[in-house]
Amino acid sequence: MKVNSKKISLIFLLFSISLLSSQKDQSKLISPLDIPLAISGTFGEIRSSHFHAGLDIKTGGKQGLKVRTVLDGSVSRIRVSTTGYGKAVYIDHPNGTTSVYAHLKNFSPKIESYIKEAQYEKESYVIEKFPKNELAVLKGEVIGFSGNTGGSSGPHLHFEIRDTKNQMPFNPMIFNIDVVDTKKPVIQKLFLFHENNFGEDIITQKIKLEKISDGLYKAPKIYTSGKIGIGLQMYDNQDLSLFNKNGIHSIKIFMDDKIISDYNYNNIKFDDSQYLNLLIDYKEFKNKKIRVQKLFNPNNSNISFIDKDEKNAKFSIEENKSYDLLIEISDFKKNISRIEMKITGRETNFIHPTIEGELILPENEYLFKFKDQTVHLKKNTFYYPTSLNVYKDHDSIKINPDISLFKKSFSIEFFANKYDSISKRQSFIARLNKKKKIAYYPTIIKDSIFITKSVQAGTYFLAKDSIPPKIKPINFKKNQWLSKSKFLKVKIEDDLSGIKYYEGEINGKWVLFEYEPKNKNLTFNFNDLKFKSGKQDLKLKVTDNVGNESIFQTTFYRKYD
Ligand SMILES: [Zn+2]
Repeated sequence: MKVNSKKISLIFLLFSISLLSSQKDQSKLISPLDIPLAISGTFGEIRSSHFHAGLDIKTGGKQGLKVRTVLDGSVSRIRVSTTGYGKAVYIDHPNGTTSVYAHLKNFSPKIESYIKEAQYEKESYVIEKFPKNELAVLKGEVIGFSGNTGGSSGPHLHFEIRDTKNQMPFNPMIFNIDVVDTKKPVIQKLFLFHENNFGEDIITQKIKLEKISDGLYKAPKIYTSGKIGIGLQMYDNQDLSLFNKNGIHSIKIFMDDKIISDYNYNNIKFDDSQYLNLLIDYKEFKNKKIRVQKLFNPNNSNISFIDKDEKNAKFSIEENKSYDLLIEISDFKKNISRIEMKITGRETNFIHPTIEGELILPENEYLFKFKDQTVHLKKNTFYYPTSLNVYKDHDSIKINPDISLFKKSFSIEFFANKYDSISKRQSFIARLNKKKKIAYYPTIIKDSIFITKSVQAGTYFLAKDSIPPKIKPINFKKNQWLSKSKFLKVKIEDDLSGIKYYEGEINGKWVLFEYEPKNKNLTFNFNDLKFKSGKQDLKLKVTDNVGNESIFQTTFYRKYD
């Protein structure tokens, strides 16, 4: 309870700060975009590896929309990465919050020139800088342009508000971000959970709901007994994003008018994401791609936004007793969907699944030894006793079943005494993914032992990449005059182990090529540097993850004023 009241008082503190200063209209946020806000991702929404720490704001399928800082402040961090947030700006505000703008196409001229200077100094596209009050910005000032950089699968703005002190993200909706929402959450299916012999929450009933009216669902009569929990398959959407399946905001369960579950997404911690696969039913997700969210605190988790007192626990159903339950699912704008259900206690027997393979107990360490391979599981590799099949199939190691939820990584070793030095250098540990494609796993080679770590079951083997990356000009030809071009674009590709490193030079000087792995493009902006007019020498060096190197050299002509 203590932790939560602290959280609440912090929110109230922020509220009162903004109330106080809103008299001067200083602390009232403006919108980061000039268009009505349509949301393709809500705060806390469950993603494949994390709880979503901000809002995803749609940009109409376009890039290059002006992105404005929501309050006066000072740029405190700039990051450029080919993964994650892509190009991102962090701005600290006097009210103790930090706003974050990610997946940008580019920065405002002021920020762009600051970061380019750093990139040229470090000779790296990927960079992170922490300016100290050098880049002040005014509320409404354009700080960049929306894009699709980093781990983004379509143009949008990822927007966050954090507590500056500890970088804990708040739900940006708390700060009156203007999103029109009159739509109630949609509930698709209800699930009952019981604990199995090992203390793991498992689905014991899947229940279809009857939709009585918009926002009201009724469950058929349910018979069960013992300690149970409830899970839901559900989503929410907003008026301007009717086709998006966004996350909900809060959960409440009343049992005979007493609240037994109550949690919401007002603030989360980045650490919470390690428990994400415990909050959903991992097996249902792996088998059917369905996310069933538990409405209770899952065993073995320590999620910061779920209180762990008597609330949010699983509850007991006694035989021959009846219970009235009301579940309320709400979005941030208090549009509520309700489920009414009646549970009657009746003796219930569970058939526990038979164990295939070996039962791995979390308290033990395991070493699977084969002729040329080993698989090593340290203590606490799993949350629960888990049945696992580890075996050799030709030269592969198979670890099954694929639905095993790992808490920690395990290591795999392959011995390759008979490999010559070239084969050894070109080999790596690979995992066969769903589409039967080979995925590179970062591999350490010690003498003749190849070592990697993984948190996934599956098929692992030694693969070999002997083909260097391909480099191909996109918008120019050899000896062409490029005086009118703004950019130099080149495509780089590697078909097996993937691109690890690249470097471009013009007339022997390092130049900044921006790398976008999604379209495999390298782009140099001619505005960056001036050379002597006439013939220009371009040299590009690209290496893959096992060190195969390609060098591309060509010449072009350009007139500089
Ligand atoms: Zn996002």
